[in-house]
Amino acid sequence: MTTAVKYEDGIYGLEQQRVRAFLIIGTESALLLDTGAIEADLPGMIRQITDLPLTVVLTHRDGDHLANLPLFSKAYIHEKDLEAAASQLSLSDTELLPLKEGEVFQLGGRSLSVNHTPGHTPGSICLLDEENRALFSGDTVSYGPVYMFGGHRDFPSYIDSLRRLDQQRARKAFDRVFCCHNSCPISPDVILDLISCAEGIMDHTIQGSPVVIHSGMEVLLGTVGKAGIYYL
Ligand SMILES: [Zn+2]
Repeated sequence: MTTAVKYEDGIYGLEQQRVRAFLIIGTESALLLDTGAIEADLPGMIRQITDLPLTVVLTHRDGDHLANLPLFSKAYIHEKDLEAAASQLSLSDTELLPLKEGEVFQLGGRSLSVNHTPGHTPGSICLLDEENRALFSGDTVSYGPVYMFGGHRDFPSYIDSLRRLDQQRARKAFDRVFCCHNSCPISPDVILDLISCAEGIMDHTIQGSPVVIHSGMEVLLGTVGKAGIYYL
């Protein structure tokens, strides 16, 4: 089941049980950020909200953000996640186009700039709408727990990315975070908790508790404040 939720003017969540995609609307065009974890008629849902031209962008390569990608002819993804995403789409005609740090999507009255924030995956991005002070964080910032186990995760890069986002938070480039998992929107303050949590896991001052996640796998959960990180 997928439900459209209006968060504020021009920002809709396309909500599924464990993940959400975003429809972000300007005066001239709209942008779909991610395509969900389970099959849904996203093009039909979007047409009920807007008939503006649509650009599709992916926050990262993980499968729970790519499910309905074959319903769209092309999508942008950071160049470091492009190949891994393409390998999950072998029977699809969707064309994947590479994104780089600093590229900007102009929607009319709203511009979204690409922040490359590696760590959760090598090509994870956040989109910053500084004019409206909103950050679309993918899986890089959320109450999570953020998945940080598996071959393509990288704790040092993740901490680096969080520190760069925290500099933007400190200069008040955004005051709310639209994330793909758990509560939304959330306060940017969670970035500080995520940094403490990731650093504590790395220097072993945080001892995670064993938990079984939905796939049946046992991992460790570290928490600081509202932030949580799954790791091994
Ligand atoms: Zn995810």
